[in-house]
Amino acid sequence: MIYFVSPKRGKPPNAITVTDLADFYICPRRFLYRKVLGQKLTYAMINGARAHAKKYNEHKERAEKKIELGLAVDLAQSGEELIGREVEIYGNGLYGIMDEIRLYPEEAVIIDFKASLSERGKIQTLAYATALRNYGYERITVRIVRTKDEEPLWEKEFGENDRWFIESLKQRFYATIRAGIFPKKENPELCESCPFGRICNG
Ligand code: SF4
Repeated sequence: MIYFVSPKRGKPPNAITVTDLADFYICPRRFLYRKVLGQKLTYAMINGARAHAKKYNEHKERAEKKIELGLAVDLAQSGEELIGREVEIYGNGLYGIMDEIRLYPEEAVIIDFKASLSERGKIQTLAYATALRNYGYERITVRIVRTKDEEPLWEKEFGENDRWFIESLKQRFYATIRAGIFPKKENPELCESCPFGRICNG
C-alpha cells in the first residue's frame, strides 16, 4: 500500500467546490449569505480550515509520495494499491479536497470524516465521486466515518442515479446564480441553527 498526499493547486476558476454545492443544496439563501454577500466567516468555518491545514501538514510529513490524483490513479490501475489523505480532486466541473481515498486497480473508496451524519456530508461525498468518474473509475464506494472513533456512519456504492442527482444539482446551482434569486429553505430545524438566521428573518 502506497501512502500519498497531493500537491495543492487550488480551485480552477470555473469549478464549483463540493462544499458550495452541498451548502446550496441545504439552503440556496444560506449559500448566498455565505458566499455571494461575503458574510464574515464563522468560528466553525475558521476552525474547519485550520483543522484541514494541520491534517495536511501531518500527512505530508508521513506520506511516501506527494503526487497528483491522476498519477495515483494510473499507479492503481497498473496494479498498485494506494491510500491518499487530504487529496485534491477536480473533475466534471467539481473541485474539493477529500479526507481520504483508497485506490485499487478496479475500485476506489472515498472516505469523509465527520462529527456526525448529515445530508450535507452525503452530498459532499457524492460530489467527490462524480468528480472521480472523470478519472475512469466505474466502481466507487463513498463512506462517512465518525471522526472521534472511526465508526462507519454511512456507506453507499455510487451509481448512475447519484451521478444524475449531482449533475441536476449542478444545473440548478448555475441556473440560480444566473437568475440571481436564492430561495429560502423552509425548514425550522435548519433555520434554528443557521448562523445567518437573524439577517434572513430580520
Ligand atoms: S435562516 Fe433558514 S432560510 Fe434563512 S438562510 Fe438560514 S437556513 Fe436558509
